[in-house]
Amino acid sequence: MAYDLSFAREVYKNSEMGHWIKMCMQCGVCAGSCPLGPHWEHSPRQLFQMVRAGKKEEVLKSSSMWMCTSCYNCIVRCPRHLPITHIVHGLARYAMEQGMANPQQPTHRFASKVFWENIVATGRVGEAGLTMKLYFLDGLGAGIRMGLEMKDVALGMVKTGRLNPIPFRGKIKGYAGFQAMLQKAAAIESKHKEAKA
Ligand code: SF4
Ligand code: SF4
Repeated sequence: MAYDLSFAREVYKNSEMGHWIKMCMQCGVCAGSCPLGPHWEHSPRQLFQMVRAGKKEEVLKSSSMWMCTSCYNCIVRCPRHLPITHIVHGLARYAMEQGMANPQQPTHRFASKVFWENIVATGRVGEAGLTMKLYFLDGLGAGIRMGLEMKDVALGMVKTGRLNPIPFRGKIKGYAGFQAMLQKAAAIESKHKEAKA
C-alpha cells in the first residue's frame, strides 16, 4: 500500500490518540489478539496502514471501529505499546464528527444513542431499560421478535444476577454533580472544537 500522509496528518492532529499511529510497525499482533478480529472488516493493523495510505473514506466508513469492546487485549500485547483501544475509539468518534459514520451500524446506534441516553437519564446503566430501548429501535414488531428470540438468554441472566429486571430505577446519589461533570465535559469539547476550527 503506497504512502499518502495527507489523511494521516489530519488524524494525528484531530483524532484522539491518533498521533500514536506513527509508531505502528505493522507486526499484526493486535489483529491476532482481538477476540472479534475475524468479524472485523479491517483489523486495527489494517486501519492504521490505511490511515497512512490516505484512505480517508474507507477508514471512516469502516464498521470496524464500532466493533471494539474495549477488552484491552491488543494494548497489553502491542510490542510498541500503542493505546490501540483509544485510537480505535478516537477514529470512530472522528468518523461521527466528519459525518461519515454509518448511522445504521448496530454498535454505533447502541453506543452513541441508546447507551448514552440511558446513562445520562439516571447516572446508571439500567440493563433492562437499555435492552428494551435497543430492541424497539426499529419498531414494535422488531422489538417483540427480538425479545422472544432472546428470552432464554435474558432469563438466564436474571437468574444468575447478571441482569436487573427492573427497567426504570431512580437517579444515582449525587446526580447533580454527575450532570455538572457532563456539562463541564461538553464545555471543554466545544472549546476544543472552536480551537480546531
Ligand atoms: S500490535 Fe501494535 S505495532 Fe503491531 S500492528 Fe498492532 S498496533 Fe501496530
Ligand atoms: S480492545 Fe478492541 S481492538 Fe483491542 S483487542 Fe479488544 S476488541 Fe479488539
